[in-house]
Formats: sequence, C-alpha cells, structure tokens
Amino acid sequence: MAGLSGGGKLGPGMGFAVRVLEASGDQRRIVYLWVGEIMGVPLLDIKKMHAPIRDALAQKVLEVMDSAMYVNGKYVDDFEAELAAYCGAAKAVGVSSGSDALIIALMALGVKPGDEIITTPFTFFATVGAIVRVGATPVFVDIEPRGFNIDPSLIEERMTSRTVGIIPVSLFGQTADMDAVESVAGKHGVWVLEDAAQSIGARLHGKMSGTFGHAGIFSFFPAKNLGAMGDGGAVLTDDPALADKMVLLRNHGGHHRYYYDEVGGNFRLDAMQAAVLSVKLPHLETWEKVRRDNAKVYDEQILNRDGCVLPDEMESRYHVYNQYVIRVLNGRRDGVKAFLDAENVGNAIYYPLCLHQQKCFSNLGYQTGDFPVSERAAAEVLALPIYTDQAPQVAESLNRALKG
Ligand SMILES: *Cc1c(COP(=O)(O)O)cnc(C)c1O
Repeated sequence: MAGLSGGGKLGPGMGFAVRVLEASGDQRRIVYLWVGEIMGVPLLDIKKMHAPIRDALAQKVLEVMDSAMYVNGKYVDDFEAELAAYCGAAKAVGVSSGSDALIIALMALGVKPGDEIITTPFTFFATVGAIVRVGATPVFVDIEPRGFNIDPSLIEERMTSRTVGIIPVSLFGQTADMDAVESVAGKHGVWVLEDAAQSIGARLHGKMSGTFGHAGIFSFFPAKNLGAMGDGGAVLTDDPALADKMVLLRNHGGHHRYYYDEVGGNFRLDAMQAAVLSVKLPHLETWEKVRRDNAKVYDEQILNRDGCVLPDEMESRYHVYNQYVIRVLNGRRDGVKAFLDAENVGNAIYYPLCLHQQKCFSNLGYQTGDFPVSERAAAEVLALPIYTDQAPQVAESLNRALKG
C-alpha cells in the first residue's frame, strides 16, 4: 500500500497528486496531497512576463490609486501620447476594449444601417460583431493561405453600391497586404479600418500595423502582445476630425458634462489600465524578440514538414507572433492537439469555426463551402506556446505527436 499514488487534472494547468506514504494494519495512513500547477508548458505565462517589471507595475498601480484620478485625466492622456509616438500616428484614442475600439471607429466613420463592410470570415468574432452592432452588413472575402489574411484580389468582386469600407485583420501578428487593400479602397472611394488587435508592433515595409488606412484598432486584452490587467483598447488615426469625434463618442457624445452633441456611450479606457500600459509599452520590443527567437527555434526544431506547415514571415513584413500558428495536415489536427493536451503542452485552435458558419450570422445566407481557404484553415490550425522559455520542449513534443 505504501507508495501508492495517483493524481489528476483540476482544470487548465492545475492538478493534484496523492501519495500514501505509509500504511499499517490498523489502516492509519499518511497521505501526501499536492495541489498546484502541472509541470508542462502553458500557452502563455503572463506572470513570468511581468516578473522583471513587477515592482514598477506595483508602484504605478499605487500611484494611480493615490491620485484618485480613475477616469480620463493624466494617465490616459500620457499613454495615448506614448502609444501614438511609438506607432508613428498623429493620434491615439484610448477606449474600453478592442471590441469597443471597432464599434467607436465605425460610429465615427458614420456607418449606418444598410451599409456593407467587407472583411474576412477567419478572424476573432469581435471584428464582425462590431459591424453588426452598428447595424451594417458584413460581406465576407476569403483569405490568402500563407498569412491567413484577407485576399485583396477577391475584394473588388464583392463590392456594391452599398459598400462603405473594408476591415482587413492583421491576424496572429502579421500585417495584411495593406497596400493592395488600400489601393482597391482608394479606387472605389471607401475607407479602410485595420483590425490590428493582434499585431501591435508588426510592420509592413517599416510602417507600423495600426497606422494604415483611415484608422486602426488595438486590443489590450491580457493575452495580446501589449496586455493590460483587464480590458482596454485604442484607435489610431491621422485624421484629427475622426479622433475628435471618437473622443466625443467615448464620453456619451458630450464635450461638456450634461450637454450632448451625439449619442455615444461609455467607451473610456480606465486610468489604471492606461498607467499599466505605460509601464509595459517600453518592454514590448523585448517581448517581441522572445517571440521571434522562439519562432526561429520552431523553424529549426519542428521536423515533420510533410505533416505540418509552419507560419512564415511574408515579404516586407515584421511578424510579432501574437500567436504562432501551424497547420497540421492530412486531417490530423485534432489528434495532434489531443497528444499535446495529454503532455500538458499548451495549445489552442484559433479559430475552429469561420464566422460565415456561425449560427448568429445564419441570416446572412452564407454556406459551408463559400470560403474554402478559410474553412481549410479552421480545420488545420493549431497555436503553440510562443512566449515561453520551453520552445525546444514544445518542438520535441510536437515532433513525437506528428510521428505518432
Ligand atoms: C482580441 C481581438 C479583438 C477584440 O479585442 P477585445 O479587447 O478582446 O475586445 C478584435 N479583433 C481581433 C482580431 C482580436 O484578436
């Protein structure tokens, strides 16, 4: 009996172990019980990311607490100026989340019911949710297979007299082909709003993601490359009138308290989040380097190239790998995922079902088969831990999964 042991999983990353250290005839047992983090590789370890700047973060949080300036004010103004300068945009408007950044940008661009907006069906829900929330109609265009971003060569044929704009998404940390998107938009006189929620710091021929088109949005959701300690987002634009309108709209549409020019909403960024983001922004490039170095480790150490396709950095791009997403071929994705799960190697599927196939958008009339490149991506993609110091272990585990 002594030495008998067992254990199990309590939830994501948590486990328990039980061991009977000693047992005697009268059934007196000494039981060793352990509950804690399972040894393995988490998909993202935010605590580890914060560890070297923990004191600076704590100090800033206390400073905001003692200032009692929790809504608007200095911390938000400062972060907006820092973010705009970092990206090379005229203006950054801090808002409550990436999702709200999309909504407020669409409101400021004057989108109205009946308008059509072209976007990709292979993105996070919020891109398309925002279009519907402002009463417009999403019109989907398939993606190109290398970068998972909208295929600009397919945009023109989907344009109608009701098309008002295009929302390309720079998915997983690599910019969409913004030149081609801007050129087709320019030809038809429609705006471009870049959903750069996953691509802060990414570049296309040296120009920062988020600064293309009429406006670009960021998300500061904790798992994004620049994450707050809660929700947050921003809209970048070089158009001062558009920026002014968003500043108005995020505060219910009023310049002066209790006098309103428009119907906006409460889309404000918390001072506490803005202050945290100010502390974190100067470290973004260091964290990017960890991600890019790990991408190189994977390039070298993931072996079975008949069984999977690794993400690649496309021409003129600087990829910041918000997610490192491989394709697992030959219908083996779910099997490989189960293998990694069993070894506690973090992984995730972004995204398992395209947006044109979602129940809530069934009224749009799309069918399975309409966007084959997106649908194939949804069946093959698998994200691996990329902000980690255990990339060789992940590669080794994946190599066994692909062999098995
Ligand atoms: C995260 C994300 C959003 C929404 O951001 P939130 O801050 O979570 O509201 C929008 N679009 C894309 C592509 C995203 O990844």
